[in-house]
Amino acid sequence: MRWGLRVTDVCLRRDAVRVVTAQGEFEAPVVIGAGGHRCPVARALGGISEREEVVVAQESETRLSSDHAATLAPFMDAPELYVEADLRGYGWYFPKGDWVNVGIGCTGGADGSLPRRRQALVDALRACGRLPADLHIAPFKGHAYVVRRQAPRRLGGPGFCLVGDAAGLARDLSGEGIGPAVRSGRLAAEAVPLDAYAREVVRLYGRGEPGWLGQRVARLPDTVARAAVRLVLGSGVARRRVVFDTIFGMKEAAR
Ligand SMILES: Cc1cc2nc3c(=O)[nH]c(=O)nc-3n(C[C@H](O)[C@H](O)[C@H](O)COP(=O)(O)OP(=O)(O)OC[C@H]3O[C@@H](n4cnc5c(N)ncnc54)[C@H](O)[C@@H]3O)c2cc1C
Repeated sequence: MRWGLRVTDVCLRRDAVRVVTAQGEFEAPVVIGAGGHRCPVARALGGISEREEVVVAQESETRLSSDHAATLAPFMDAPELYVEADLRGYGWYFPKGDWVNVGIGCTGGADGSLPRRRQALVDALRACGRLPADLHIAPFKGHAYVVRRQAPRRLGGPGFCLVGDAAGLARDLSGEGIGPAVRSGRLAAEAVPLDAYAREVVRLYGRGEPGWLGQRVARLPDTVARAAVRLVLGSGVARRRVVFDTIFGMKEAAR
């Protein structure tokens, strides 16, 4: 590993992988792509498809005046999450002392629904007093990451493997990606042969294509899907299982 070098190109040679940087070229028998969702190894060797699913998110972080901090004191005890009615994402309200961070993310970002969802969240936070009317919040900043929901990137092949966001391992609905990045990085470092790495990642995080049930559920009319989400999330036990254990991966973190 060499610090501070920007990789500009990656190409597969007969017995090695060549990594090109402004400071020179390097060859190694195996390269691990750990460059986040725009990783150059993934772009060169990961078989990226136009069909892969991108999650988009926007967040705004605002410093509070002492008056606003005092007004918001009743809301400072705990962060809040607001699951979208179609279960395609969630909004958040994270009070952090003198700061408040609000944001929202959703799957299927290409449909352009994020601005509407963001406005609905801000309106709801204004209405319930969590964002006072005279508090000007900082402009929203956008982020995007890819998830293994359809047309997944190749996890590995001759001379390379992908880890973390480069492989699309962040959880699709929550965006929790630090755990999978650390875990897949460790697996890649230990993996001999590389096939074993891909098998283990698939076992942990799935194939990246919806199964029979997933395809059927995806075809449900929006109203039916929303009613099912309301029904399931109406129960405290189910909500904890679905939102914390599954969407946020607390079950995996506890292992
Ligand atoms: C606003 C925000 C909040 C988040 N909050 C959470 C959270 O609370 N919990 C959680 O679990 N996850 C969170 N995530 C997701 C989490 O940050 C990522 O899933 C995780 O960082 C992925 O780790 P990674 O090592 O795969 O990639 P990254 O952390 O993206 O690291 C990639 C590295 O590769 C480098 N790189 C990229 N291209 C090149 C190149 N061409 N040459 C050289 N180096 C390159 C980058 O500079 C970077 O250092 C959040 C993400 C965002 C955007």
